[in-house]
Amino acid sequence: MSDQKSIYLHIPFCIKKCVYCDFCSTTRLFWIPDYIRCLKKEIERRSGSKKKISTIYFGGGTPSLLSVKDVEMLLQTIGDNFDVLRDAEITFEVNPGTIDFYYLKELKSAGINRLSIGAQSFNDEKLKFSGRIHTAEQAGNTIDYARKAGFDNISLDLIFGLPFETKTIWLEDLNKALAMMPSHLSCYMLTIESKTPLGEKVKKGLVTPISRNAMLELFKTTSRFLGEFEYEHYEISSFAKGFQNRSKHNAKYWDRTPYYGFGAAAHSFDGNARAWNHHSIKIYIKDINAGRLPVEDSETLTLEQKMLEMIMLRLRTLEGLDLAEFKTLFNISFEAQFKDMLEQILEGSSGLIKDGRFMLTLEGKTCLNSIVEGFAGKIL
Ligand code: SF4
Repeated sequence: MSDQKSIYLHIPFCIKKCVYCDFCSTTRLFWIPDYIRCLKKEIERRSGSKKKISTIYFGGGTPSLLSVKDVEMLLQTIGDNFDVLRDAEITFEVNPGTIDFYYLKELKSAGINRLSIGAQSFNDEKLKFSGRIHTAEQAGNTIDYARKAGFDNISLDLIFGLPFETKTIWLEDLNKALAMMPSHLSCYMLTIESKTPLGEKVKKGLVTPISRNAMLELFKTTSRFLGEFEYEHYEISSFAKGFQNRSKHNAKYWDRTPYYGFGAAAHSFDGNARAWNHHSIKIYIKDINAGRLPVEDSETLTLEQKMLEMIMLRLRTLEGLDLAEFKTLFNISFEAQFKDMLEQILEGSSGLIKDGRFMLTLEGKTCLNSIVEGFAGKIL
């Protein structure tokens, strides 16, 4: 396991909530100054000895609602309390409709070297349905500004599987995204969460989601289509134009490398235990102001949980699970322990073993959850 950790900073503010969103974020923007002050204190309080940091990620919410001055201050605080490597990947999520060229130029000067642009779509009907605050044109402009500001490591977030979405609509969307030549794409299936405005509409029968089969067809179409344009499908939702453009930060999650999470609802992991901060921004601020750490709870993982987590995370990836590494870590032969399940998966063409690694095929990835549930049934 690498000794180079990661830092995630959660910026839980949005101008407006999207209909499908159940992330920790609020539209109460007047809390931003207090929150940023507390975020600084949390970083200082939890730094300990100067740990090596190789990736930093500003996620949200909408980090691009912060002033560049605040971003600089947070990076300075991290730099004062941790040993940030010179070539650290520093990603910042931006939402079209919240930024202009000058903002991105200043972000670049502040040290941000990777942008994750929440375009979501280049189809105005999809954007309107989703309750996004921007148009397709604004999403396109954001990418232009980013290039002109000097960013070459640009990732686009896209969403697919909206209730009216057909293969034709999605392919048009993907084509428009490819015309912008991003170095990375994150393509997410729409998930309908019950406590969101969209979830409510579905419950009332006002909106009918597309079928599971149709969704999986769109997933497979995405992989094949982007593959034709040399975007490597290196994780369930992630596509990179070449190995060098993979998200180094996210790769650390899939490798179970320890990370610090700062801010409301942020999770931290030290290799053995996971702790998470309060979701409530109010409680988060209150705890910090009272001199406490804003931790809501934590759990120490059992050997079985670690095993399952490793299987679940590695099967999301192109490289899959290293069987020798599994044996070293858990003193168990994966092939012997899960013989029956493994045979079933291999015979059904949902997975394969290659160069000492067990990985899922594209077909297998469409039933990742049930495969992981199968392993969980054998382990827990
Ligand atoms: S911008 Fe992102 S975090 Fe904010 S409401 Fe929309 S999906 Fe949620």
